[in-house]
Amino acid sequence: MPVDSSPSREYKKPPEGSLIKLFDPWKSPFCTCPLKYSLNPYTGCAHRCLYCYITSYIPDAFRARPKVRLLSRVERDLAKIDLQLPIAISNSTDPYQPLERVRGDTGAVLRLIGSAGGKVIVTTKSDLILRDLDLLSSMRAAVMITITGLSAELSRKMEPGAPLPERRLRALCELRGARVPVGVRLDPLIPGVNTDREGLLRLLDRLAKYSLHVTASTYKPRADNWKRMKAAFGDRLRDRDYSERVGRTRYLRRQMREELLSWLKEEVEKRGMTYATCREGLPELQSAGSCDGTHLIPLDKH
Ligand code: SF4
Repeated sequence: MPVDSSPSREYKKPPEGSLIKLFDPWKSPFCTCPLKYSLNPYTGCAHRCLYCYITSYIPDAFRARPKVRLLSRVERDLAKIDLQLPIAISNSTDPYQPLERVRGDTGAVLRLIGSAGGKVIVTTKSDLILRDLDLLSSMRAAVMITITGLSAELSRKMEPGAPLPERRLRALCELRGARVPVGVRLDPLIPGVNTDREGLLRLLDRLAKYSLHVTASTYKPRADNWKRMKAAFGDRLRDRDYSERVGRTRYLRRQMREELLSWLKEEVEKRGMTYATCREGLPELQSAGSCDGTHLIPLDKH
């Protein structure tokens, strides 16, 4: 299914200072996302993933903090945007990180969006999302769970604040059981760290039981996350593998991306899931209605 990402499409641009913003992936020439809004219920993220890129633009990014007057601002923004466009929650923070357990801001924001008749694509690494199972299943919502492998040891090292992979798989299973459409982000894929083919096949076998869709994305290093990753993995990460540049971003060499992502496509589709890649310059690999999971959002409320 073609994705309408034409910039000329009609949409209501949120006013200056809005919390709900039009999604803008740094004008990446490789971005194939459909038009959508983006909302981050928190500033920063305590999951502290070594590969995370938010440290390149958010000060003190691994210290999560609430947003001032979040709910009244979201309510105001919802009255001004085009509710036909999905709202992505979120891109620069995990909406179900530990602070959510205490504050419940993401849950409150979802209730506001649901009452306004909006639709959401929620991306998280946390099974805390299961707290909002009833809410999500009663509104126009789809969920993408991010998983970087099955190894608890690797996850503890690379995503020290995030729930372990088995808990994310349980979230997938329960979301699917509650008839909330779910997909998975394999993101990031990092040669030398988590792209061993047998490991990926074992992961896909598990995902195929619950996930409708897989979006794959390779690691795109920035100076600060590269430093953290090199400190943790040393020579397992090779500088020369990331010799391609797209805009201001470093990329895995095209041949390596093509080999890995084409092989994954075959294995994902063999298991009955649809497939897409994220900002890889390989749109021909996409077999799903969107690259970001928004095609999973139901047309109507349940
Ligand atoms: S969960 Fe996402 S936003 Fe949070 S630290 Fe990890 S990569 Fe960054």
